[in-house]
Amino acid sequence: MKNHFQHEHSLKFSAILLDMDGILFHGMNPIDGAMEFMLAIEHIPHVFITNNPIRLPEAMADKMEEIGFKRPDEKQIITAGEATAVWLAQQKKNYRFFAIGANGLHKSLAKYGTEDLEKADYVVVGEGEGIDYAAITRGINLIIKQGAKLISTNPDTSVDAFYKGKRAIMPGGGALVAPFIVATGQQPVTIGKPEALLYKIALQALNKKPEDCLMIGDRPDTDILGAQKLNMLTALVRTGRFAPGEILPDHISVPDWDVDSLQELQTSLGLLPAADIKSVQI
Ligand SMILES: [Mg+2]
Repeated sequence: MKNHFQHEHSLKFSAILLDMDGILFHGMNPIDGAMEFMLAIEHIPHVFITNNPIRLPEAMADKMEEIGFKRPDEKQIITAGEATAVWLAQQKKNYRFFAIGANGLHKSLAKYGTEDLEKADYVVVGEGEGIDYAAITRGINLIIKQGAKLISTNPDTSVDAFYKGKRAIMPGGGALVAPFIVATGQQPVTIGKPEALLYKIALQALNKKPEDCLMIGDRPDTDILGAQKLNMLTALVRTGRFAPGEILPDHISVPDWDVDSLQELQTSLGLLPAADIKSVQI
Protein backbone atom coordinates (compact mmCIF):
# COMPACT_ATOMS: atom_id res chain seq x y z
CA MET A 1 0.00 0.00 0.00
CA LYS A 2 2.71 2.41 1.04
CA ASN A 3 4.71 1.86 -2.11
CA HIS A 4 1.69 2.38 -4.28
CA PHE A 5 0.96 5.80 -2.83
CA GLN A 6 4.59 6.82 -2.78
CA HIS A 7 4.68 6.28 -6.51
CA GLU A 8 1.45 8.12 -7.10
CA HIS A 9 2.65 11.13 -5.10
CA SER A 10 5.94 11.30 -6.93
CA LEU A 11 4.17 11.81 -10.27
CA LYS A 12 4.16 15.39 -11.55
CA PHE A 13 0.75 14.93 -13.16
CA SER A 14 -2.66 13.74 -12.07
CA ALA A 15 -4.17 12.78 -15.43
CA ILE A 16 -3.04 11.33 -18.74
CA LEU A 17 -4.05 11.90 -22.36
CA LEU A 18 -3.07 9.13 -24.74
CA ASP A 19 -2.94 9.00 -28.49
CA MET A 20 -4.13 5.65 -29.82
CA ASP A 21 -2.73 4.60 -33.21
CA GLY A 22 1.04 4.06 -32.96
CA ILE A 23 0.91 4.04 -29.15
CA LEU A 24 -1.55 1.30 -28.27
CA PHE A 25 -1.89 -0.53 -31.57
CA HIS A 26 -1.05 -0.71 -35.24
CA GLY A 27 -4.21 -1.74 -37.09
CA MET A 28 -5.53 -4.66 -35.04
CA ASN A 29 -2.15 -5.54 -33.47
CA PRO A 30 -1.34 -4.38 -29.95
CA ILE A 31 2.03 -2.66 -29.51
CA ASP A 32 4.43 -4.37 -27.07
CA GLY A 33 3.96 -3.18 -23.53
CA ALA A 34 0.72 -1.27 -24.22
CA MET A 35 -1.59 -3.64 -22.33
CA GLU A 36 0.73 -3.71 -19.31
CA PHE A 37 0.97 0.08 -19.41
CA MET A 38 -2.82 0.49 -19.51
CA LEU A 39 -3.15 -1.78 -16.47
CA ALA A 40 -0.45 0.19 -14.65
CA ILE A 41 -2.30 3.50 -15.18
CA GLU A 42 -5.77 2.13 -14.43
CA HIS A 43 -5.89 4.14 -11.18
CA ILE A 44 -4.91 7.43 -12.89
CA PRO A 45 -7.67 9.41 -14.67
CA HIS A 46 -7.05 9.17 -18.42
CA VAL A 47 -8.64 9.75 -21.81
CA PHE A 48 -7.73 8.77 -25.34
CA ILE A 49 -7.54 11.46 -28.00
CA THR A 50 -7.32 10.69 -31.69
CA ASN A 51 -7.35 12.85 -34.81
CA ASN A 52 -9.21 10.07 -36.58
CA PRO A 53 -12.83 11.24 -37.03
CA ILE A 54 -13.94 8.15 -38.96
CA ARG A 55 -15.00 5.84 -36.14
CA LEU A 56 -17.39 6.65 -33.29
CA PRO A 57 -16.03 6.40 -29.71
CA GLU A 58 -18.13 3.28 -29.16
CA ALA A 59 -16.53 1.68 -32.25
CA MET A 60 -13.05 2.60 -30.97
CA ALA A 61 -13.91 1.06 -27.56
CA ASP A 62 -15.06 -2.11 -29.35
CA LYS A 63 -11.83 -2.17 -31.34
CA MET A 64 -9.72 -1.90 -28.18
CA GLU A 65 -11.64 -4.75 -26.60
CA GLU A 66 -11.27 -6.85 -29.74
CA ILE A 67 -7.51 -6.30 -29.70
CA GLY A 68 -7.39 -7.46 -26.08
CA PHE A 69 -7.43 -4.29 -23.97
CA LYS A 70 -9.93 -3.79 -21.19
CA ARG A 71 -12.85 -1.97 -22.87
CA PRO A 72 -12.60 1.73 -21.99
CA ASP A 73 -15.68 3.79 -21.23
CA GLU A 74 -16.88 5.46 -24.43
CA LYS A 75 -16.67 8.83 -22.67
CA GLN A 76 -12.91 8.28 -22.33
CA ILE A 77 -12.49 8.23 -26.10
CA ILE A 78 -12.41 11.65 -27.69
CA THR A 79 -12.15 11.45 -31.45
CA ALA A 80 -11.72 14.53 -33.62
CA GLY A 81 -15.29 13.94 -34.84
CA GLU A 82 -16.68 13.76 -31.31
CA ALA A 83 -14.70 16.82 -30.18
CA THR A 84 -15.95 18.73 -33.22
CA ALA A 85 -19.56 17.93 -32.28
CA VAL A 86 -19.04 18.92 -28.62
CA TRP A 87 -17.29 22.15 -29.58
CA LEU A 88 -19.93 23.11 -32.16
CA ALA A 89 -22.67 22.53 -29.56
CA GLN A 90 -20.81 24.91 -27.23
CA GLN A 91 -20.76 27.55 -30.02
CA LYS A 92 -24.38 27.11 -31.05
CA LYS A 93 -27.00 24.93 -29.40
CA ASN A 94 -28.83 22.66 -31.87
CA TYR A 95 -26.54 23.63 -34.71
CA ARG A 96 -27.28 22.65 -38.30
CA PHE A 97 -24.49 21.08 -40.28
CA PHE A 98 -23.44 19.84 -43.68
CA ALA A 99 -20.76 17.17 -43.23
CA ILE A 100 -18.38 15.71 -45.74
CA GLY A 101 -16.63 12.52 -44.60
CA ALA A 102 -17.17 9.08 -43.15
CA ASN A 103 -20.39 7.84 -41.58
CA GLY A 104 -18.93 8.08 -38.08
CA LEU A 105 -18.45 11.82 -38.55
CA HIS A 106 -22.07 12.31 -39.59
CA LYS A 107 -23.22 10.27 -36.58
CA SER A 108 -21.00 12.17 -34.09
CA LEU A 109 -22.29 15.52 -35.39
CA ALA A 110 -25.90 14.30 -35.30
CA LYS A 111 -25.62 13.63 -31.53
CA TYR A 112 -25.79 17.38 -30.84
CA GLY A 113 -27.02 18.91 -34.11
CA THR A 114 -29.10 18.33 -37.21
CA GLU A 115 -27.90 17.63 -40.72
CA ASP A 116 -29.34 20.34 -42.99
CA LEU A 117 -28.16 20.48 -46.58
CA GLU A 118 -30.00 23.75 -47.28
CA LYS A 119 -29.37 25.95 -44.23
CA ALA A 120 -26.27 24.67 -42.48
CA ASP A 121 -24.48 26.84 -39.90
CA TYR A 122 -21.33 24.77 -40.36
CA VAL A 123 -19.71 22.95 -43.25
CA VAL A 124 -17.66 20.22 -41.56
CA VAL A 125 -14.95 18.43 -43.50
CA GLY A 126 -13.51 15.24 -42.04
CA GLU A 127 -11.78 12.11 -43.24
CA GLY A 128 -13.18 9.17 -45.15
CA GLU A 129 -15.14 8.85 -48.34
CA GLY A 130 -17.86 11.30 -49.28
CA ILE A 131 -16.01 14.17 -50.90
CA ASP A 132 -16.92 14.68 -54.55
CA TYR A 133 -17.78 17.48 -56.98
CA ALA A 134 -21.34 17.77 -55.72
CA ALA A 135 -20.26 17.95 -52.05
CA ILE A 136 -17.63 20.61 -52.74
CA THR A 137 -20.17 22.63 -54.74
CA ARG A 138 -22.79 22.43 -52.01
CA GLY A 139 -20.25 23.23 -49.30
CA ILE A 140 -18.76 26.30 -50.95
CA ASN A 141 -22.23 27.68 -51.78
CA LEU A 142 -23.30 27.31 -48.14
CA ILE A 143 -20.15 29.18 -47.10
CA ILE A 144 -20.06 31.93 -49.71
CA LYS A 145 -23.78 32.59 -50.17
CA GLN A 146 -25.17 31.75 -46.74
CA GLY A 147 -22.29 32.52 -44.41
CA ALA A 148 -21.81 29.00 -43.10
CA LYS A 149 -18.51 28.52 -41.24
CA LEU A 150 -15.87 26.09 -42.46
CA ILE A 151 -14.74 23.49 -39.89
CA SER A 152 -11.95 20.94 -40.30
CA THR A 153 -11.91 17.95 -37.94
CA ASN A 154 -8.15 17.44 -38.20
CA PRO A 155 -5.23 19.01 -40.07
CA ASP A 156 -3.33 15.84 -41.05
CA THR A 157 -2.01 16.01 -44.60
CA SER A 158 -2.08 12.22 -45.00
CA VAL A 159 -2.73 9.17 -42.85
CA ASP A 160 -1.46 5.57 -42.93
CA ALA A 161 -4.36 3.15 -42.80
CA PHE A 162 -6.09 0.35 -44.62
CA TYR A 163 -7.94 1.01 -47.86
CA LYS A 164 -9.93 -1.82 -49.40
CA GLY A 165 -7.97 -4.32 -47.31
CA LYS A 166 -4.50 -3.04 -48.14
CA ARG A 167 -2.13 -0.76 -46.24
CA ALA A 168 -2.17 2.61 -47.98
CA ILE A 169 -1.49 6.30 -47.55
CA MET A 170 -4.79 8.13 -47.57
CA PRO A 171 -5.65 11.85 -47.72
CA GLY A 172 -5.96 13.38 -44.25
CA GLY A 173 -8.45 15.99 -43.08
CA GLY A 174 -6.08 18.78 -44.09
CA ALA A 175 -5.95 17.57 -47.67
CA LEU A 176 -9.70 17.13 -47.92
CA VAL A 177 -10.54 20.61 -46.60
CA ALA A 178 -8.07 22.25 -49.04
CA PRO A 179 -10.54 22.61 -51.97
CA PHE A 180 -12.97 24.46 -49.67
CA ILE A 181 -10.23 26.84 -48.49
CA VAL A 182 -9.15 27.59 -52.04
CA ALA A 183 -12.68 28.07 -53.38
CA THR A 184 -13.98 30.24 -50.52
CA GLY A 185 -10.85 32.01 -49.26
CA GLN A 186 -12.05 31.13 -45.76
CA GLN A 187 -9.68 29.55 -43.27
CA PRO A 188 -11.32 26.72 -41.29
CA VAL A 189 -11.52 26.31 -37.55
CA THR A 190 -9.47 23.15 -37.01
CA ILE A 191 -10.22 20.86 -34.08
CA GLY A 192 -7.57 18.09 -34.13
CA LYS A 193 -3.95 17.98 -32.92
CA PRO A 194 -1.75 20.05 -32.91
CA GLU A 195 -4.54 22.64 -32.64
CA ALA A 196 -5.77 23.28 -29.10
CA LEU A 197 -9.45 22.39 -29.32
CA LEU A 198 -9.22 18.59 -29.19
CA TYR A 199 -7.02 18.84 -26.06
CA LYS A 200 -9.40 21.40 -24.53
CA ILE A 201 -12.44 19.16 -25.01
CA ALA A 202 -10.39 16.32 -23.44
CA LEU A 203 -9.43 18.54 -20.49
CA GLN A 204 -13.10 19.40 -19.95
CA ALA A 205 -13.89 15.67 -19.87
CA LEU A 206 -11.10 15.10 -17.34
CA ASN A 207 -11.90 18.28 -15.41
CA LYS A 208 -8.17 19.06 -15.26
CA LYS A 209 -5.84 21.93 -16.09
CA PRO A 210 -3.29 21.32 -18.87
CA GLU A 211 -0.32 21.65 -16.49
CA ASP A 212 -1.70 18.73 -14.45
CA CYS A 213 -1.66 16.42 -17.47
CA LEU A 214 0.76 14.20 -19.33
CA MET A 215 0.24 13.73 -23.08
CA ILE A 216 1.59 10.49 -24.53
CA GLY A 217 1.93 10.31 -28.31
CA ASP A 218 3.98 8.95 -31.20
CA ARG A 219 4.08 12.07 -33.39
CA PRO A 220 6.23 15.08 -32.45
CA ASP A 221 4.48 17.34 -35.01
CA THR A 222 0.95 16.73 -33.71
CA ASP A 223 0.67 14.93 -30.33
CA ILE A 224 3.70 16.52 -28.72
CA LEU A 225 3.69 20.00 -30.33
CA GLY A 226 0.03 20.64 -29.48
CA ALA A 227 0.49 19.52 -25.87
CA GLN A 228 3.63 21.66 -25.45
CA LYS A 229 1.74 24.74 -26.67
CA LEU A 230 -0.74 24.18 -23.81
CA ASN A 231 2.01 23.56 -21.23
CA MET A 232 1.24 19.91 -20.69
CA LEU A 233 3.96 17.44 -19.80
CA THR A 234 4.80 15.32 -22.83
CA ALA A 235 6.05 11.81 -23.52
CA LEU A 236 7.14 10.87 -27.03
CA VAL A 237 7.01 7.12 -27.54
CA ARG A 238 8.85 6.03 -30.66
CA THR A 239 6.61 3.14 -31.63
CA GLY A 240 4.64 4.81 -34.41
CA ARG A 241 5.43 7.41 -37.06
CA PHE A 242 8.68 8.41 -35.38
CA ALA A 243 11.45 5.82 -35.11
CA PRO A 244 14.07 5.32 -32.37
CA GLY A 245 17.11 7.49 -33.13
CA GLU A 246 15.24 9.84 -35.48
CA ILE A 247 16.08 13.53 -34.91
CA LEU A 248 13.33 15.81 -33.58
CA PRO A 249 12.14 18.58 -35.95
CA ASP A 250 13.65 22.01 -35.09
CA HIS A 251 10.41 23.65 -34.00
CA ILE A 252 9.66 21.01 -31.36
CA SER A 253 11.09 21.32 -27.84
CA VAL A 254 12.55 18.25 -26.23
CA PRO A 255 9.67 16.26 -24.67
CA ASP A 256 9.76 15.60 -20.91
CA TRP A 257 10.13 11.92 -21.72
CA ASP A 258 11.51 10.55 -24.99
CA VAL A 259 11.38 6.76 -25.01
CA ASP A 260 11.46 3.84 -27.42
CA SER A 261 8.58 1.95 -25.79
CA LEU A 262 5.77 2.15 -23.25
CA GLN A 263 7.73 -0.31 -21.04
CA GLU A 264 10.53 2.24 -20.90
CA LEU A 265 8.04 5.01 -20.07
CA GLN A 266 6.44 2.88 -17.36
CA THR A 267 9.86 2.35 -15.75
CA SER A 268 10.84 6.03 -16.06
CA LEU A 269 7.60 7.12 -14.44
CA GLY A 270 8.09 4.60 -11.63
CA LEU A 271 4.68 3.06 -12.31
CA LEU A 272 4.29 -0.31 -10.66
CA PRO A 273 3.52 -3.32 -12.83
CA ALA A 274 -0.18 -4.15 -12.73
CA ALA A 275 0.41 -7.33 -10.68
CA ASP A 276 2.13 -5.33 -7.91
CA ILE A 277 -0.68 -2.79 -7.83
CA LYS A 278 -3.21 -5.57 -7.37
CA SER A 279 -1.19 -7.15 -4.58
CA VAL A 280 -0.75 -3.90 -2.66
CA GLN A 281 -4.46 -3.10 -2.95
CA ILE A 282 -5.52 -6.32 -1.17
MG1 LIG B 1 -0.55 8.20 -33.34
